[in-house]
Amino acid sequence: MVHSSPTPCPECAQPMRFGGWALCRREEDGARVCRGLWECPQRHFWWQWADRKDTAPEPCSYPHLFGR
Ligand SMILES: [Zn+2]
Repeated sequence: MVHSSPTPCPECAQPMRFGGWALCRREEDGARVCRGLWECPQRHFWWQWADRKDTAPEPCSYPHLFGR
């Protein structure tokens, strides 16, 4: 499975690197859904719902998920 960046970093427009998955509980519908983790070279962290690839990545405030 190839992971390519869904979008450039929304903050600095550089290509992002896939950082793994985080299983989350989504409050709005109660579903347990994976979020793809994305990191850009400037250390901006983002995540995105795996089943909502058409939505914009959201800022991820848990950099420890990336092993940082
Ligand atoms: Zn960035």
